[in-house]
Amino acid sequence: MNYKKSEQLLDRALKSIPLGSQTFSKSLTQYPRGVSPFFIEKGKGAKVWDVDGNKYIDFVNSLAAVTLGYCDKNVDEAVQKQMQNGVTFSLPHCLEMEVAEKLIDIIPCAEKVRFAKNGTDATSASIRIARAYTGKDHIAVCGYHGWQDWYIGSTTRDLGVPKAVKELTHKFEYNNIESLEKIFQERELACVIMEPMNAEYPQDNFLEKIKTLAHKNDALLIFDETITGFRYSLGGAQALFNVIPDLATFGKGMANGYPLSAVVGSNEIMQKVEDIFFSGTFGGETLSLAAANAVIDKYKKDNVPKYLNDLGNYLLKKLNQLIIKEGLNDVFRTSGHPAWSYLQVKAQDKYTAFEIKTLFLQEMFKRGILILSSHNLNFSHSEEDIDKLISVYSEVLPLIKQSIDNDNLIEQLNCKPLQPLFQVR
Ligand code: PMP
Repeated sequence: MNYKKSEQLLDRALKSIPLGSQTFSKSLTQYPRGVSPFFIEKGKGAKVWDVDGNKYIDFVNSLAAVTLGYCDKNVDEAVQKQMQNGVTFSLPHCLEMEVAEKLIDIIPCAEKVRFAKNGTDATSASIRIARAYTGKDHIAVCGYHGWQDWYIGSTTRDLGVPKAVKELTHKFEYNNIESLEKIFQERELACVIMEPMNAEYPQDNFLEKIKTLAHKNDALLIFDETITGFRYSLGGAQALFNVIPDLATFGKGMANGYPLSAVVGSNEIMQKVEDIFFSGTFGGETLSLAAANAVIDKYKKDNVPKYLNDLGNYLLKKLNQLIIKEGLNDVFRTSGHPAWSYLQVKAQDKYTAFEIKTLFLQEMFKRGILILSSHNLNFSHSEEDIDKLISVYSEVLPLIKQSIDNDNLIEQLNCKPLQPLFQVR
């Protein structure tokens, strides 16, 4: 692969745009310079083409936002139709309630809905609602919840977040109920916000226990379903695991790449939205709502979550077989839900996980697979795409294992290894 144009454009972009990207996970912090594409020109279905003309099967899918595939016919038609009538207006548009009603129909905890643009808007609104509803300030978090102060202050990338805000947020560990009990012993919490699942399945009724614990302490339970929603099942992780939170947030896949997010919850709690301030110029922007309308219809008609689940199971079965057959368990393991599964890299005595990951990315991109660390499936991925992925894995994973065994992994790199800057999962 040749990334010449990508490299030139990155140099140019870095002069006008910090990191050359609007999104951390699309930047050179995640894609090692010299062996990666940096700009995509177009996409169709599950394939994308970079500016150098290289073609990839995309397993990143705009960080899991694209759930049907690029340029989905039904979504495009719905958006084009709406575009002829205007985009954002001076009063609400009926699409707002049409899509809200559809969400209420499919999401167990949803009785009322408010829309926004990014996942962060929705998670931040949910925190404000919980604080207003309970009259308490402290919160507990588990997973990733976006870029705002209340969450990012609890991570290592907390520069610019006031200490006073940081002190209100407390992290607990997934599948470790004691870690949350300890916080409740020390604080009065407004809410617990969590990804209902990312890499690991809930063990030992973890989600039920969290809900009981939160309610016993008059705190709200918020599921951040920015990724699990529109992926795990039609009603999200809450429907899959049958644990219904007080509030839930959605984003990413709900409009197949159009910017839309939502906070949903019970009538009583969502009523607080009338008292707090949660308002934005583009909350009722109609192209994204038209896209969401088409996405939800297609999800129902074609049972998209089942397709993602079945295809993901096919992928995981083949990949696990490969890991066993090639004796790769010391370096690689799979985890997560079939629709959003991970290939996790374990640090070795002589190499960090980041060094191994760098070689992994270099070799995957070279063979026409765009991937970070998870398989973000979309409805356009075919079994053939998965077979291609597995055939690339069967070359790349043993090659990495060999370079570890031969102690020459760094020599295989045509770039500097990625730096351990910031990890949230
Ligand atoms: N919550 C979760 C679980 C997410 O995965 C993300 C995005 N990666 C967010 C919140 C923030 O969403 P956005 O980047 O759209 O603000």
